[in-house]
Amino acid sequence: MKQPLRCWAEIDLAAFERNLKCIQNALPDHMRYVAVVKADAYGHGMPQMVRRLMQSGVDYFAVANITEAAEIRHMGSGWPILLLSPLLPGEESQVLAHDLIATVSTAGECERLNELGKQHDQKVRIHLKIDTGMGRLGVWHEQAEDFLKSIADYSHLKLEGLYTHFSSADSDPEFTQLQRQRFIRIVESIDYSKLLIHADNSAGIDSLSKDSPFNAVRIGLLQFGIAPYPKSALGAASVEPVFSFHARIGLVKELPAHTDISYARSYTLERDSRIAILTAGYGDGIPFELSNKGSVLIHGQHCPILGRVTMDQTIIDVTDCPEAAIGDTATLIGKNGGKEITTVEFSDLVGTISWETLCSITKRVTRLYT
Ligand code: PLP
Repeated sequence: MKQPLRCWAEIDLAAFERNLKCIQNALPDHMRYVAVVKADAYGHGMPQMVRRLMQSGVDYFAVANITEAAEIRHMGSGWPILLLSPLLPGEESQVLAHDLIATVSTAGECERLNELGKQHDQKVRIHLKIDTGMGRLGVWHEQAEDFLKSIADYSHLKLEGLYTHFSSADSDPEFTQLQRQRFIRIVESIDYSKLLIHADNSAGIDSLSKDSPFNAVRIGLLQFGIAPYPKSALGAASVEPVFSFHARIGLVKELPAHTDISYARSYTLERDSRIAILTAGYGDGIPFELSNKGSVLIHGQHCPILGRVTMDQTIIDVTDCPEAAIGDTATLIGKNGGKEITTVEFSDLVGTISWETLCSITKRVTRLYT
């Protein structure tokens, strides 16, 4: 007999493919699509997502580190792969070994990579990042023009792109506009005709103007069918959720009123109750923050979480859901019996963001591709 899954994430590949088409259709023809697939493709599973992205014809991949980049490189040689995070000293040789594009923000990084190029008699591919207000990576925009001039002096670096990152594209259009203007000023100070010029993430593409120097976008969250902010035009209009998260009822029992529930007696039953024990806890990615707070969907009904979420089990109240029985599916994120808990709703309740929710579902959770 096939072993039942105790806790699983369902990944809807058809929805993912539809989302990719929808994003591609929304982009102007000259705009390259850089698919951001770091952190195991936002928890969806890197190989499965990358394969679909390759089939759908995306132009570039962007990842955080060498390990992620090498995984993609083993799947196909044609796609440019951009490393978004800085390289540690000692990692440089992997850039050439896997034919990657490094992000640089400082002269020190340029020197290390130029040295590598000299040793191998090869040019090292780079994108220069410009800090227009994110306060993270990138050369500060006021110093970027001088920095760009100095890049020409490195005999073994090949500048292939310029980019910046918006800090508040989902919440502050004015500041995003300021970042855009700062970036465009730098881009237009050089001949950028052969460079990849990119800034926009999922939230940014709503305000992307077609006649700007930008010729690429870096899209992460939107691919997975989640709008980066409530009024996101593309997000709200057309993409569909790809990810859902489920556990099972492992046990059902009746307890009298006034019984304490879970660690630290963190809940006390107010009435004679029927409780169910789910086969998942914070060890699977159900946040402790949902203790006494969240609910799950069983047979299309919201059943509240009682007491503390524990490592492997979560206790819920099924008094008002008499059909709840051992083996039934409890949905934490996704659709169940005509109702839905979205990733955004789940994240809001936890006090986090959708990006973190997707990255927090642990390895123990089977990814089921449908
Ligand atoms: N570009 C960079 C540099 C990022 O760090 C990220 C995500 O963290 C993205 C693009 C993609 O952002 P989003 O998932 O909001 O589309």
